[in-house]
Amino acid sequence: MTQPLRKDWDTYFMDIAFMASTRSRCPRRHVGAVLVQGKKLLGTAYNGAPMGVPDCSEAGCMIVEEFEPAPAGSAETMVKKQRCIRTIHAEQNLLLFTDRIDREGSTVYVTDQPCWTCANMLANSGIREIVYHRVYQKDYAKVAALMAQKNLVFRTIEGYVPPPDTGVQDALS
Ligand SMILES: [Zn+2]
Ligand SMILES: [Zn+2]
Repeated sequence: MTQPLRKDWDTYFMDIAFMASTRSRCPRRHVGAVLVQGKKLLGTAYNGAPMGVPDCSEAGCMIVEEFEPAPAGSAETMVKKQRCIRTIHAEQNLLLFTDRIDREGSTVYVTDQPCWTCANMLANSGIREIVYHRVYQKDYAKVAALMAQKNLVFRTIEGYVPPPDTGVQDALS
């Protein structure tokens, strides 16, 4: 019998981030993030309401509408988008539940490219590297520019496929 293929570290930690994302109760978006120092897992987090507060599955999403620049090539200049603001983002929860001293020089694996606010916080959190899977187009350019300014590694895993049982929805808006 052949042994199952052993996962490389990148795949291993990104798979754990996807497993963490399955804990999210926001039907609009499931995001998971993990903190890794060397090869040691220091924390896992997902997007959710504060502890003890009704979450999206109980109280419904808390929707706000915002105008965003339309994607390149679109006939419109601005498009209206809806966002759920009930949850604390996975990356922010990860920072709330880990210690600064542990984060120095560490890597964050996150299922989705961080939004601008999360990227800004991560840039000031001591981490050295962000590895993500799905692109978040709205904030991509300014987040990538920030990562370059801060000299942080900002990358995806080539050919990565999320675990089959994590309910991945690729349609991000
Ligand atoms: Zn929600
Ligand atoms: Zn965010």
